Amino acid sequence: MVHVKKVEIFGFKSFGFKNTTVQFEPGLVSISGPNGSGKSNILDAIIFAMGENKPKVMRVDKLRSLIHDIEGNRRGPKMARSSVHFDNSDRKIPVDSDLVEITREMDENGENTYYLNKKKTNRSHILDLLDMANAGLGQLNAVQQGTVTRISEFTSEEKRKTIEDLIGLSYFDEKKTESIKQ
Ligand code: ATP
Ligand code: MG
Repeated sequence: MVHVKKVEIFGFKSFGFKNTTVQFEPGLVSISGPNGSGKSNILDAIIFAMGENKPKVMRVDKLRSLIHDIEGNRRGPKMARSSVHFDNSDRKIPVDSDLVEITREMDENGENTYYLNKKKTNRSHILDLLDMANAGLGQLNAVQQGTVTRISEFTSEEKRKTIEDLIGLSYFDEKKTESIKQ
């Protein structure tokens, strides 16, 4: 099964301008630490690299606020980067390598650059590859703090939408809308 092996974070939210590496073992991993120490920011960094574009989902008001200390006066590179390394031994992500590394960089103007195994690519390619492996955004691979409580308060329409996302129907809906537009 495709799983995250490692995340490398630079200049993203509470992570400063030096590389922080977080390793994940297969199975259950738990991260502990005081309130506000950056545990949830690790999950935000993962979904950021996977192409998440909704600021609210990453708990900021605008994407630019994801850059470390963006409002501060410190000098240094005003950019955020996150790389997620996926174990792809079973080739569920249609890329012919055991390890798939997805990197996203964002500069202070909100310009984004994506890399797949260190080669430049674009967001929609990343989204497609991850969706094909059932590892994409919107497939409840990342369940955030408060989500479980929220799900219990869903209206029936929201429940239907969530189930559609889970079984992958929304992916085809989006593709259909895109092709109708073209
Ligand atoms: P809790 O246990 O309360 O869930 P947590 O460990 O999950 O806490 P996070 O939500 O990951 O904590 O981290 C919140 C911290 O990230 C806050 O202290 C906030 O100031 C910091 N933070 C968020 N964005 C930035 C940024 N752009 N620059 C610097 N720090 C930031
Ligand atoms: Mg948290």
